[in-house]
This record gives sequence, C-alpha cells and structure tokens, in this order.
Amino acid sequence: MQIEIINTGSELLLGRVLNTHQQWLCRQLADAGYEVTRQVTVADTGEAIQQAVRESLGRADLVITTGGLGPTADDITRDKIAELLERPLHEDDSVVEHVRSFFARRNRPMPDRTRIQAMIPEGAEIVQNAHGTAPGLIIGVAPNPFRATGDRSVLIMLPGPPRELQPMFTAQILPMIREQFPLLGGFACITLKSTGLGETLMEELLENPLSGLVREGLQVGFCARTGEVDVRFAANGPNSAALVANADLIARKVGAEYIFGTGEESLEQVVVQMLTEAGKTIALAESCTGGYLANRITNVPGASAALVSGMVTYSNESKMDLLGVQKATLEQHGAVSNAVAGEMAEGARARAKSDYAISITGIAGPTGGTTEKPLGTVYIGLASADEIFVQHYLNTFDRKTFKFVTAQQALEMLRRRLTGLIPV
Ligand code: ATP
Ligand code: MG
Repeated sequence: MQIEIINTGSELLLGRVLNTHQQWLCRQLADAGYEVTRQVTVADTGEAIQQAVRESLGRADLVITTGGLGPTADDITRDKIAELLERPLHEDDSVVEHVRSFFARRNRPMPDRTRIQAMIPEGAEIVQNAHGTAPGLIIGVAPNPFRATGDRSVLIMLPGPPRELQPMFTAQILPMIREQFPLLGGFACITLKSTGLGETLMEELLENPLSGLVREGLQVGFCARTGEVDVRFAANGPNSAALVANADLIARKVGAEYIFGTGEESLEQVVVQMLTEAGKTIALAESCTGGYLANRITNVPGASAALVSGMVTYSNESKMDLLGVQKATLEQHGAVSNAVAGEMAEGARARAKSDYAISITGIAGPTGGTTEKPLGTVYIGLASADEIFVQHYLNTFDRKTFKFVTAQQALEMLRRRLTGLIPV
C-alpha cells in the first residue's frame, strides 16, 4: 500500500515552523502498521499544491494533506484541491453551525470570513474538528483520473494546528484508515524506551537473545536520541503479536537495568508514577541545571503528589543559607564536588521533610573548567533516610543538552533507587 503525505505551508519552507506533522503522522501510521512511502512539503501556492496532489494521487492509495484549511487568504488547500478534482464547493449547514457554536461558546463574535470553512467539495466526507473550526475532509477519488489504472485513491485533508490535527487523526482518521485499508494477516508493534546505554551497546546486548525471533520475522529498530535509545519491535503476519510479545519479554529481562518505559512515556512520568505509587516524596536542590529537573518533573500531571519543593541554589551563599551546606566544605572541596552535592541533597531532604532529595552541582560551561574539574563535571546526589549517594559524571555538551542529560541522569538515579537496582 502506498501512502503519501503532503505538508502545505510556506512557513515550513521558510524555516519558521518545524514540520512536526511529518514526524507525528509517520510515527502514528508506522505504529499502526502502515508505512508512509513518500512525503513532500510545498508552499501555499495553488500551483505547488495542485502539482503535489496530482503527482501523489497518480501513485498512492492514500494521500494525506496538512494545513491550509483555515479562513485566511493563504489557506487555499481546500479550494485548490476542489478545483483540481473538479468538485464544486457547497456550503454545509452542519459546519456553519459548528463554527457558530465554536465562537458562541467562547463568547467571541464570529468573523464573517470563518464561514468559508464550511465550503465543502462535492462528495467529501466531513470530519468535525473538536478543537477548532475547520473540518477535516475525506474524498474518495474514483475513478482516479491521475492513475493509469483509474484505481481508487483516498484523499484526506487535515487542519494545520497540531492540537487540532492530532486528536482528529487519532479519534477519527486512523479508525477510518483501518476500516478502509485493513491490514492483511495482522501487525504488532511496541517501542521500548531506554536510558544509560548507547545505541550500539543496546544493539549488542539484544542481538543474540533476539536472534531466534528475528529469524521468525521480528523487525528490530533502534533510534538514538539525546540521553535515550528507543527500541522498536514490529512484526507482520498471523504470528506478529506473539513475536512482539516475546521480544518485549526478552528485552525487558536482558535490558532490565536500562529499559524504563514504553511508547511515548518519559522518564519523568515513570519516576513520578513510581514515587506516587510508593507514597514517597522528593525535594530538589539544583545548581547548574537551573530548575530544569523541576521543570521536567512538573510537566507530569499529578506531580504534586510527589514533588515537595525544588530550589535553585546557584551561589555559594544560597547553598549555605537555603540548604545548610557548610562553609568549610565549600572552601575545602569547592561548590562542584562530591562533598557539596552530598550536603545539598541532605539539606534539601531535611528542610523539605521529604523521603528523597536530589542535588545537582556542576560546570555547564563554556567557561569555568579547570584541569582538576573540567567543563561538564557534574555531581548528582541522592539522599534518603538511610544513605546519601553521590555520583560523578562528565557531561560535555552545549548548555541546553547539558541540562537535559544531567536531569536525565538524576531521574535515572532515582528510578534505579526506587526499583532497587544499584545506582551506577
Ligand atoms: P488555521 O485555521 O489555524 O489557519 P490551517 O488548517 O489553515 O489552520 P495552517 O494555516 O496551514 O493551517 O497552519 C496553522 C498553524 O499550524 C501554523 O502557523 C503552524 O503553527 C501550525 N502548523 C501547520 N503545519 C504544520 C506542520 N507541518 N508542523 C507543525 N505545525 C504546523
Ligand atoms: Mg491557516
């Protein structure tokens, strides 16, 4: 099955907006067993849009466009596709009503030009937009004038804003695709998320244990991102579910130390959930990460059940005043040291009266390094009722990556402590 995606939007080609639809849609489709065969981004001009759609309909069974369904002058996707397919536009009452009530609910006057979104190409199926005004549109192109065989293609137009496109795709479009293009013989897929081991080492670790399943048709893919490696198992055919389930089982056993979650789960989500389930609390004392760890933890809904406080103690004075770090310790070892990290963690735990506390102190760079303590030197402390554990790392990255990686290591340290695995 051929699937093509056409992302419309001059802002994408001007580099003003990152084309996240391309990645997101490909990922959703791939995880459902459908592989996108081609993707193109085009400007908001009639010629570019029509040419791309004409070409894609000439090849693909399913063509998905994104963007350009709104009310402004540069939103021409719907009109230009209707023109190409020679489908006159008719105003649809249900869409006019949807747009009207969308504005009424927000107590805002309905601008006259938003009505244009109710102009629907003849024969198109309307997909109501739960988070915006422009509906998605599905057109069965049959016979397909752009295919030599005349075979039917399905054309789907989706709105541009991600918060409109994503729920529409998940709730309405994907079920329709599954129904109209059923996968023959079955498909299964799972993504495991890991941290603490590079891509090559992870591949080496899993290679032998999974070799039998690979011979039976298991597909294994690795995707390295900053501080994490995704391991994806997929299989087609009647045996697919068993193959993927077995691979999952084996990988979790062999890679137990590194695998922290599945799908879109983040490490902070997993850690907050573990703390919440255990009824335990955490406090944070950050220096060089400037609150980035607190930011990641508070991105998780329900973090308040676990997080008591997060302090950014950047200066020596604040480390002494707010955390009770000893002046002598600072003088003897320096702010970036094992001893100070330990006192920061214990001070944060005592002051917040939490079960655990994490401390972070280090040199993010690009200046401030010495031979003894080079740029990227980090100490992460973890205090609990029975021990204070401090680990040394060397994270030589730009400042933003440094913050992410360091926060990742801190979260991983806590995860390992909570699972009972020895921190490494
Ligand atoms: P609207 O009614 O908001 O105008 P629309 O369907 O006309 O929606 P566009 O005007 O093409 O869509 O895009 C609206 C906004 O959605 C863009 O400014 C951009 O921020 C975002 N957007 C569009 N396409 C993409 C994309 N491929 N990836 C990420 N964001 C996108
Ligand atoms: Mg628009």
